[in-house]
Amino acid sequence: MVHICSGSEILLCIERFMIDYKAPISNQLFTFQTLLHAQGLSAQDGAANNDDAMFDQDLFEAIITEADKFACDVLLPLNRKGDWQGAQFQDGCVRMAEGFAEAYKKWCDAGWNSLSAPEAYGGQNLPIILASMVNEIWCSANMAFHLCPLLTAGAIDALEAHGSDDLKARYLEKMISGTYSGTMHLTEAQAGSDLRFIQTRAALHDDGHYRLFGQKIYITYGAHDMAENIMHLVLARIDGAKPGVGGLSLFLVPQILDNGDVNDVHCASIEHKLGIHASPTCTMIFGDRDGAMAYLIGQEHKGLAAMFTMMNAARLNVGLQGVALCERAVQGALAFACERKQGAGADKSQHAPDHAVTIDQHGDVQQMLMTMQSMTAISRFLCYDCALAMDLSKLSKYEGFDQDYYEKKSALLTPVAKAFSTDCGVLVSSLGIQVLGGMGYIEESGMAQLYRDARITPIYEGTNGIQALDLVTRKVPMDDGVYIYRYLDELAEMIDRLDGDGLGFAETLIEGHGFLKQTTDKIIQWNQDNEGIYLQNAASSYLSLFAHIAGGCYMAAAVACSEAASKDNKSDALEKLAFFCRFKIHYCYGYYHAVLASDQTK
Ligand SMILES: Cc1cc2nc3c(=O)[nH]c(=O)nc-3n(C[C@H](O)[C@H](O)[C@H](O)COP(=O)(O)OP(=O)(O)OC[C@H]3O[C@@H](n4cnc5c(N)ncnc54)[C@H](O)[C@@H]3O)c2cc1C
Repeated sequence: MVHICSGSEILLCIERFMIDYKAPISNQLFTFQTLLHAQGLSAQDGAANNDDAMFDQDLFEAIITEADKFACDVLLPLNRKGDWQGAQFQDGCVRMAEGFAEAYKKWCDAGWNSLSAPEAYGGQNLPIILASMVNEIWCSANMAFHLCPLLTAGAIDALEAHGSDDLKARYLEKMISGTYSGTMHLTEAQAGSDLRFIQTRAALHDDGHYRLFGQKIYITYGAHDMAENIMHLVLARIDGAKPGVGGLSLFLVPQILDNGDVNDVHCASIEHKLGIHASPTCTMIFGDRDGAMAYLIGQEHKGLAAMFTMMNAARLNVGLQGVALCERAVQGALAFACERKQGAGADKSQHAPDHAVTIDQHGDVQQMLMTMQSMTAISRFLCYDCALAMDLSKLSKYEGFDQDYYEKKSALLTPVAKAFSTDCGVLVSSLGIQVLGGMGYIEESGMAQLYRDARITPIYEGTNGIQALDLVTRKVPMDDGVYIYRYLDELAEMIDRLDGDGLGFAETLIEGHGFLKQTTDKIIQWNQDNEGIYLQNAASSYLSLFAHIAGGCYMAAAVACSEAASKDNKSDALEKLAFFCRFKIHYCYGYYHAVLASDQTK
């Protein structure tokens, strides 16, 4: 009798692959060690120079291990449920999917909200690079959940950097503990990428504060039932201010005022969307009654600069969303490919009629898996190096450190980390579906959710097209290219460290690096000559070229770092990783040659 495999049996089989997730702790720490090694730093450097023990590896490992536990026990089990149920808009309120409010309480109780926040207001002041590793883990486990703390963290940064002492004293502690969450209000129907057209207006009231009137759309976690209060950070135009972005100011609008009254801001509806179903995307109305009470953050008409503090943090974190979704897709695809048997394999001499190999032995599947792994590794390097540069720019007491360079380096890498990593998230999760075949296309496999969730990441926090323009028109030409050339020197040093077997890789990289340098010269020249059309046309290709070649150099650094460690017999694991890196770098070269060959920058 033919056994018909029931839906639930198939589901069980698929769930074995997709429900499992384990934080890639050794890979994360290895990436970090490679970056320190490449810059001639050691884990003790911060401590030895009276700064906090910034790069304490044991502390890092302990925190990541705990994060892995929390992610797997609390957040991961809600990921599918959140996707199916989604956030609901009922009777004017947003209800989160089942279990989210409880998970959020556990999250706050465990202190996860306060990781990199300032100590003065109850934060733990841990390095951004560590917070980035942990953010990657949260997002792999449950991206829709993590969007709430992600936005709160950005709002904390902006308030801390630009808010008055009074506002900080009133709100920062509760935001850092997670009792209050934060939002970011830029987008309006006529003002998406182009914030010049923002119409939300701010009127000065007799009490010395402002009242806001207007409508914002697509506001992530604009309303929800997880936190006690929501702090809305809103860009608006003070009455009489000039048009354009120079007339925008930033305001803090508490959902519930200090006297307990509900402020004049409410959610009118939430969107039905492709992915991140558990994250409410809200239309918010300000000033249906007398205007929403709003407190100015920073100076009048300097709102965009203040909001950029929030946006830059959020851009790196969105890049990390890309890394996180890549990692999840890689883990699922690898597990599946090692078990699924189809096809007889390449060696025909060994074929018996019923012989089948696991699909990871087929060349095409191997290529897909290799692409997935190398893109994940490169994205992680770019995001972590950006985070590390942010930390190094604050190493005030460490002599010999050029803080200014690291500040500019983080600015240079932010659009690349955001755009490239999120493009990788889409590419890698799509390949994940392909590796799973028909099962990948079935919702229950979970791979489809990764792909749907990933699709927003190249769009929000500034579309990837806008990131590319930022790179070629603002970041690369900073000080006539001083910082990009110094960064290119850093990359060249990574290639120089290759020896032995690595020399074959070095040749290819030197060629790629030379091409990136020439293209960079052109970008700077076009800026000087005001060749806007050339810059617009080249922007995305240049960003891709930059990321691929920088990625290749990071891979070279990984090989050199692994070899250095294995020569010292420090770790078998590192030796294995060195092999793994070579494997990845081979693929990486092939990939970026395809980009260079097409010569899209012309
Ligand atoms: C799920 C979700 C959550 C969001 N969360 C928030 C939030 O919390 N807060 C918030 O303020 N906003 C949020 N947004 C809005 C998001 O940031 C915008 O959608 C995004 O900035 C793009 O704006 P737009 O949709 O108006 O597209 P448009 O600006 O109309 O862009 C459409 C296309 O044109 C391209 N384009 C536009 N201008 C240029 C240019 N000058 N040069 C080259 N190409 C250009 C874009 O790259 C894009 O491909 C969210 C959106 C979604 C879908």
